[in-house]
Amino acid sequence: MATSIELSTLGHRIRHRRSEKGLTLDELGALVGVAGSHLSLIENGKREPKLSLLQQIADATDSQLSDLLSSEPPNRRAALEIELERAQGGHLFRQLGIPPVKVSKGLPDETIETILGLHRELQRRERATIATPEEARRANTDLRLRMRDQDNYLGDIERLAEKQLKAAGHHGGALTHRTVSIMAEQLGFELIYVSDLPHSARSVTDLENGRIYLPPASIPGGHGLRSMALQAMAHRLLGHKPPTDYADFLQQRLEINYYAACALMPETQSVAFLQQAKKDRNLAVEDFRDAFGVTHEAAGMRMTNLLTRHFEIPLHFLRVDGAGAVSRVYENDDLPLPMDVTGAVEGQVVCRWFSARSAFAEQNRTVEHYQYTDTPAGTYWCSTQTGSTSDGEFSITVGVPFDDARWFRGRETQKRAVSRCPDESCCRRPADEVAARWVGKAWPSARVHMQMFSPLPTGLFPGIDDSEVYAFLERHAGG
Ligand SMILES: [Zn+2]
Repeated sequence: MATSIELSTLGHRIRHRRSEKGLTLDELGALVGVAGSHLSLIENGKREPKLSLLQQIADATDSQLSDLLSSEPPNRRAALEIELERAQGGHLFRQLGIPPVKVSKGLPDETIETILGLHRELQRRERATIATPEEARRANTDLRLRMRDQDNYLGDIERLAEKQLKAAGHHGGALTHRTVSIMAEQLGFELIYVSDLPHSARSVTDLENGRIYLPPASIPGGHGLRSMALQAMAHRLLGHKPPTDYADFLQQRLEINYYAACALMPETQSVAFLQQAKKDRNLAVEDFRDAFGVTHEAAGMRMTNLLTRHFEIPLHFLRVDGAGAVSRVYENDDLPLPMDVTGAVEGQVVCRWFSARSAFAEQNRTVEHYQYTDTPAGTYWCSTQTGSTSDGEFSITVGVPFDDARWFRGRETQKRAVSRCPDESCCRRPADEVAARWVGKAWPSARVHMQMFSPLPTGLFPGIDDSEVYAFLERHAGG
């Protein structure tokens, strides 16, 4: 049984041949022994002709049967009409409840093209992930919980990174830019540093010409360049396709970050390093960071991949801004974290008494801040390092339950705090006497967070302005 689309093409091909021979519907009908009206239904794709009738039509119009049965529209006009029929017959259009345009001879090609343009855009928008902030938060939480179930560990990517490093001749110590370049070359890519990357992109890969464009090597904090290059390569190594939805996008981003972390802090070497430090009861994020030449944040996150899987130590990782709002989080030690109705922790403000916030008050910020915090879920030991960027202050915290503090440097700290959050009287509500004094006498003006109002950009890749990226590639591909 032919589909309606094939019937539509067939009808167009029959009409095309009939017109070429200068025959009316009734004239051709007479030649093949059917009524003109029946032939009309066939030409409009509404009836499926018997093969014997098709053969007769082919003979009467000096055509080959195979020519009539070709899946190609006979000309541009027919192609437009077929595409329009298809668009108007589709679910997306029909659910709008708008009556379809009736195609007649008098309808100009330009009009059909305009209508088709609208249909194509409608379809593109439907496909593009229009991720609302709430959907984004849910997807983020789902992914974090899924990773929690597997100790935040991805064995396949660990092994892939070790294999690539070995092939590039890396045998230990900090990964150099040179080795990263060799890894890229082995994948058929050249690393190119440019100063005009699109604002929305961290890197752009030109698959056609085998180039990975990165920001200039001289930017401050350029050590992140190795990570960016590795992440760009990871898309290729992991066989990523353009993400189908926001959850897919997040999954890919997690995987490329994971790959970069594995390449910068390979599992075998890292576990050996951490094993020794644990034996010496001298585990410290800062030592791990310095041994592999990575950022404090990267080292802390990497510990979440390895400490539970290899040493059975549950832990938490927090990156918070100066106001205590969480921008990056992982926990499998049940630390009581603030969360919204969707279960998302990102963007929520952690307890004022957590190490992640009290560290901002430290005078000497070059060393880690250590602290024990009693919470309703038990006592935790945390180490926090603060820093600042152009966006303001931030802190990175890695913490463990009380019993596991014994493996870490800083366990002897005398700093202690008590957190009763989520009980609001802990730190979210003013003390009664202070409230009594100020109620009705204060009028602050809120600082509006831009992210509350900015929807995630849509397009092929969430957060990326396609046109900017293509314009960038146009500029560079020729050179
Ligand atoms: Zn609190």
